[in-house]
Amino acid sequence: MKHIYGLTLEEMEEYFLSIGSRKFHAQQLFSWLYEKRIHSYSDVTNIKKEILAQLEKDYCLESLKIVRVERDVDVCKYLFELFDGEHVEAVLMKHDYGNSVCVSSQVGCNMGCAFCESGRRRRVRNLEIYEMVLQILMIEEDFGQRVSHVVVMGIGEPFDNYDHLISFLKIINHPKGLAIGARHITVSTCGIIPKIEEFSKLEFQFNLAISLHAPNDSIRDQIMPINKVYPLKKLIPVLRQYIEKTNRRITFEYILLAGINDSSDCALELSKLIQGMNCYVNLIPYNETNNFEFKRSSTIQIMRFYDILKKNKINVTIRKEFGGNISAACGQLRSKKEDV
Ligand code: SAH
Repeated sequence: MKHIYGLTLEEMEEYFLSIGSRKFHAQQLFSWLYEKRIHSYSDVTNIKKEILAQLEKDYCLESLKIVRVERDVDVCKYLFELFDGEHVEAVLMKHDYGNSVCVSSQVGCNMGCAFCESGRRRRVRNLEIYEMVLQILMIEEDFGQRVSHVVVMGIGEPFDNYDHLISFLKIINHPKGLAIGARHITVSTCGIIPKIEEFSKLEFQFNLAISLHAPNDSIRDQIMPINKVYPLKKLIPVLRQYIEKTNRRITFEYILLAGINDSSDCALELSKLIQGMNCYVNLIPYNETNNFEFKRSSTIQIMRFYDILKKNKINVTIRKEFGGNISAACGQLRSKKEDV
């Protein structure tokens, strides 16, 4: 059955027109769903009973199941069960600037990055739009505070589920929806070039983050299979165009993996690769998983890498770590549950 949280405002307007009703009911229903947070159509007081009865037949408003929550001081990790018994996770992080949620976009992932827990299971399916919207709604409800920032950095490759992703972003960004500002929403991709180009044509100001993780094609080829399709020598020029076209700064995520991409030479090479781009680099201490092939770089090496980027005038930060105690590394909670 179709799901009400999967509709953008425009689609809901079309729906009401299609059943011979009035377009403005869409705005009303949006406000019931996203401001008043009803759980049943019977709570709606300003739309006629017959129309609500039709609505009930066409669109359900069931929630997902939260099957596990792991809580720490500044982070909560949620495991959701979907209607077909699959699981995805989302993480709430409390920052000084607000609450941010990291949402999943697929069940499993086909990108196959060697260091990533999520990709140990191939993509089973794309998440539906409502399944992404509900991750945020349900976390707000559980946590009792507004979510002000969203990052699409959970399980899955968002640009491999592009159309659902964009509708989801429209719903959470809409002033009558969750009203999360576009500048507070970040989509992270491993670098699917055609979708980056499409994304640059949107009229919205969403942020783009790129999982770079290597300063050259030979290292990137070894750890990220997508690089064989969209190598750095093509990706970087496309990103330079993206920045020029959108006038937006992009983020590069760079996991430091001991002995693989964390040498001083790598830092220098990275500085050259992105020199002059309006960007910043987020250095990510690797969250060690069951995969023994990869080790976290030492703190000294992380600081050395950081200093070299700084010296070369690259904006750089080291990612604050959340949830070390609660298996917050991508895909870990689900892996535990399903023992994959
Ligand atoms: N597919 C998208 C979004 C999901 S991954 C992408 O590739 O960007 C979100 C980020 O977490 C990526 O930068 C990914 O490389 C990183 N990541 C994956 N496993 C990690 C781990 N064990 N420790 C730290 N970061 C990890």
